[in-house]
Amino acid sequence: MNRKLALLLLLATLPFTACDKVPFLKKKVAATPAPVPILAAPAAPPVPTTAVTAAARPAIDTNAQVVVLCYHRLEGKAGGTLSIEPAVFEKQMEAIKESGVAVISMKDFLAWRRGEKTIPPKSILITIDDGYISGFDVGVPILKKYGFTATFFIYTNYLSSGGKSMSLDQLRKLDQDGFEIGCHTVSHQDLRRKPAKWAGDYESWLKDELERSKKILEENLGIKCSVFAYPFGLHKDVVRTAVEAAGYDAAFTTYGARIGHTANAFTLGRYDVTAKMAGNQQVFDVALNFSGMAAPSSAPAMAQDAATSMVTEPMHNTTTTEATPVIKANLATLGDFDPGSVEMRLSGLGIVPAKYDAASKMIEYKVAKPLREGSHTVIIGYQTAGQRREARWVFHYSATGEAPPEPVAPPAATPKPGKKPLKK
Ligand SMILES: [Zn+2]
Repeated sequence: MNRKLALLLLLATLPFTACDKVPFLKKKVAATPAPVPILAAPAAPPVPTTAVTAAARPAIDTNAQVVVLCYHRLEGKAGGTLSIEPAVFEKQMEAIKESGVAVISMKDFLAWRRGEKTIPPKSILITIDDGYISGFDVGVPILKKYGFTATFFIYTNYLSSGGKSMSLDQLRKLDQDGFEIGCHTVSHQDLRRKPAKWAGDYESWLKDELERSKKILEENLGIKCSVFAYPFGLHKDVVRTAVEAAGYDAAFTTYGARIGHTANAFTLGRYDVTAKMAGNQQVFDVALNFSGMAAPSSAPAMAQDAATSMVTEPMHNTTTTEATPVIKANLATLGDFDPGSVEMRLSGLGIVPAKYDAASKMIEYKVAKPLREGSHTVIIGYQTAGQRREARWVFHYSATGEAPPEPVAPPAATPKPGKKPLKK
């Protein structure tokens, strides 16, 4: 009987406590400072500050992991090296659906990183680069069929330039449909060096590539463009700093990795699943299984310096025509480290079973499955003075021996006469 009464009394207070809490309390406090009626505001024991914070903010799963898929063209063979068959894209979307792994939006990803919103323990971001019309014509209907969202990274010189480029109106439609737009520079060039035709200095060129493209997208679409993708996934220290200074919250490479809550915001790795080689499916599987390497939480700048002094095979920034090369490095220049801690990782594959010989300081791994065409990053992880360190280098594989960098930039499009120019 007593319990029933208590429940009724409690229910009677609910409209106040749930909907009218703040004004009600304010009024009461102003009128009668000390005793607040028990029924109106049930007495609660003093709550520790941490609990208050936890109640005010949602619980964030800081152990959640995100993998990011990177697509370019969905045109089959006609689209060249960056293209996959629409049927392959659909199959991959179906595989994601069947796996139960959640596809999240860029907005939610960024909110999770800021600690404002939680995401499922395993989440996927889908990204489509460059602004080819096949992303709109082919990609969007398939994405919608599976209820997935995606982010389109656009480089503005190609936008509305005719041919196979997406138009500004199509981009607006994507925005209206809840898809997100990220920035991919003005001219889609390797940001590590200034093109000869730019009259000013490197810094002014970099700033232009990062800021003008952002402005074009933001002003023409009325959006905030807060994410960036490095052309070809290539960056270096000053590039990352400039991207942050230009006002982006995050930047993506094409160096696949599982992204944790504290992963470096300006080297977020994506799995490039566009190559038509057998490697394409392999890379996709590694991504979907969350079996690849984890993204480092600090910028890998120091590690890159270490790699330049290392004798490696294939050598840094060279192209091999061998689909299953032997990857070697002499670690003598890395100084003292724990021999038992040495491991080799290969982008898209994670840790590989490399052999390390402590006497000669040589590490060696014969690639088992044929590599996909394009760039591959090798990372040597090791422990020195109790600290985990990494050294890395990049080589390229091309059956025909064609020179890097990859992927090949889309043809420089010349705007068609009579087209309405973009607001620049
Ligand atoms: Zn691109």
